Order: sequence, then C-alpha cells, then structure tokens
Amino acid sequence: MGVRRIIALTLGWEDLPKSASVHGGSRAERVREPVPGLLLETGDGWLLIDTGFNTALLRDPALRRRFYPSPNYQPELPGDGEPLEEALTAVGLRLDDVTAVALSHLHVDHAGGLKHFAGRLPVHIQRAELAYGTSNHPEPEKYSMARIDYDDPRIDWRFADGDVEIAPGVTALLTAGHTPGHQSFVVDLDPAVGGGGFVFACDAADLTENITEERAIGSFLGVTPEQTVEQIRKLKEVGARRGYRVIPGHDPIAWPELTAELGERFGPMTARPSGAR
Ligand SMILES: [Zn+2]
Repeated sequence: MGVRRIIALTLGWEDLPKSASVHGGSRAERVREPVPGLLLETGDGWLLIDTGFNTALLRDPALRRRFYPSPNYQPELPGDGEPLEEALTAVGLRLDDVTAVALSHLHVDHAGGLKHFAGRLPVHIQRAELAYGTSNHPEPEKYSMARIDYDDPRIDWRFADGDVEIAPGVTALLTAGHTPGHQSFVVDLDPAVGGGGFVFACDAADLTENITEERAIGSFLGVTPEQTVEQIRKLKEVGARRGYRVIPGHDPIAWPELTAELGERFGPMTARPSGAR
C-alpha cells in the first residue's frame, strides 16, 4: 500500500545568501527560502517529515542572540503562534493526528518542532545524525544544531542505518553530506490515488539548480563539495528509475508550486466529521 495523500507545509522562511545553498554561489545575492514540512497519509497514519523552527529560540531575544547570531542568516516565522499547529489547522488536522515523525536532519529549521511530539510518537532519524548531534559538544551548535531541540530523553527514536522503508510507501535514503546523517525520502503514492510519487531531497539539494545543474550544495560537513553532487545524482537516479521528480528542500519557486499542485491533486481537506477522533 502506498501513500494516499501528500500535503506540503511552509513552517517559516529564512533569509540567507545564495552561497548558503549553492557552493560558489553569490554571497551578495539574498534568497528567501521556505522552511518545509510534509504530511503524508500512510497506512499507519499521518507521518510528518520535518518540524520547522523552535519558536522559543526565535522569540526570546536572548536565545535568539545565542542561536541566530549572524545577520547573514535571518529566520522568519509565519504567524504569532506555533507554525506547526497553524499549518495543521489550515488543513483540518491537529498535532494529535500526527502518528509518526521523521527528520531529514537536526538543523534548527527542521528539528525545532520536535518538542510537540516528544514521548507521544516514534521519531525516525539516521543513527549517524543523532550520534553527531549529541557528541563533541559544542561543535554541532556551531553548525546550526540546537541540542535543546532533540536531546530529549522522552523522544522515542527509531534509528535507520542507510536506506530503509519507514512507513508503507515511504523510504528514507541516507544522503549524508549536508550533515553526517542527512536523509532524503522517496514517497510512493497508492495506485488508488493515481500512483506515481516523488523524491524529496530535503537539504541534499536546497534549490532546483542544485538538481538540474548538479551544483554542489553550499553547506556540508565532513565531505567535499563534489561528494554532495554524488548524493544529488543518487537521488536523480532513484527518481529516474521510478519516473518521479526530485523535489528540492528549500526552493522559493518550486516549493510553493508543489504546494499548489498537491493541493489541486488531493483537494482541500474536508472538515473533521463531528465526533471523529
Ligand atoms: Zn539543513
């Protein structure tokens, strides 16, 4: 059985230089990139991929100075509340409806909403990612990982070591490079909803040009720029084999377009029937 519905969420934005996303890209050119989340309706329930920023670290001025010290990188929240809650409400769902979470990696714009789920559901991650994020303090914080987001003893981690199916129709692919245990996701849609699917690169490729022009990503750890291109090629091969598009993780044009496309394909969520869980 495949995935029956995909909903793309935008949980914030980040204003940064192009060079943060494309190796050798312009340092002067600014890009305002969406912070993505994905909701997948699987045979096991609603799987959420990535959780956006930890709002506390942005809204408390002292914490913001610590975690976002650089004027070169400025995060932005969509509203006054919790972005995840607001995004779920907009599609007729609640935090309680999410039955599992998967993280592409531990950066602050992906792991910050984990706090909503700790102790309540399984959280999928590559073992190498959490191992990096919880060792060698304080190095991970210099690389945009905020330990408070993920070092929570209540979290029910489910570790992957490489490529593995984490839910019916959802396969995690280890694409280390952006971070030591970064993972991307292949989503197979159920034949009942028309089949097909997508390869979600997440931060293995921020922008469309990382994929189409095979340009190395701008932010990587422990690998060469060329090795980040190898991961992009791996994703393109998987996509070509299945006839799926590879979706970049932070593209200012591709993400809103995909959001609209998925909305059209799967339709708006209907209001929750009264008395339903
Ligand atoms: Zn990242």
